[in-house]
Amino acid sequence: MGMAQDRTVLIAGNWKMNCLSGEAVSLARAVAAAPEGGCEILVCPPAVSLAPVAAVLKGSKVRLGAQDCHPEGGGAHTGDISAEMLADAGCAYVIVGHSERRADHAETDEMVRAKALAAHRAGLCAIICVGETLEERESSQTLARISTQIEHSLPEQITPANIVVAYEPVWAIGSGLIPTLDDVQEVHMHIRGYLEVKYGPATAEGVRILYGGSMKPENAGDLLALDGVDGGLIGGASLKAEDFLAISASYP
Ligand code: PEP
Repeated sequence: MGMAQDRTVLIAGNWKMNCLSGEAVSLARAVAAAPEGGCEILVCPPAVSLAPVAAVLKGSKVRLGAQDCHPEGGGAHTGDISAEMLADAGCAYVIVGHSERRADHAETDEMVRAKALAAHRAGLCAIICVGETLEERESSQTLARISTQIEHSLPEQITPANIVVAYEPVWAIGSGLIPTLDDVQEVHMHIRGYLEVKYGPATAEGVRILYGGSMKPENAGDLLALDGVDGGLIGGASLKAEDFLAISASYP
């Protein structure tokens, strides 16, 4: 079973740069209309759709998140959005360090940590993404890579309430490929072990570690049943309410 007593499974949809506002509102409506299950459900629309989606989610248990934030609270940063603005728009979460941002915007681990700190300053929970490339996996560097990313991307002070770690192998994102279940479990145990050494057992036991990368209704049951997998970060399959809800329903 993929959940310790005090870790509520989180099923998070990362809509990326998809959906015009009308589509975002319809998708959010369909997600919010589903019967409540045992999981926490989160949707992360593009920034321009946060406000209309927040209005749709009002009164439902579905949470709202953003896909990125700037480290600073405000100022001369054309085109950027602060964590405070996201909180003001109704967000409870923000994804930081997604591999697409690390690749497209050259985000370093240190920048990701600064963004996580900004999230905390604004009262948001930071979903911090880590994951190896195919080259790293094939040269047996996966665990070392993950350790480095965790070490440099996570703030010094974390709590189970203000951090979620998402393990997303870069090569599994949008590819239809997933690691073997043993490999997923190995990385999740490695991350929790790292957290235990650095932050102590209570924090390590409480922090949720999600799997992300080509999670679909067909494979979600197996992935979510793994020990130490506390939910999923879902890209492609989160754009269809039916698939996204089927994933959340596959958690026993
Ligand atoms: C993601 O980008 O966070 C992701 C997991 O994408 P997908 O589900 O499409 O692989």
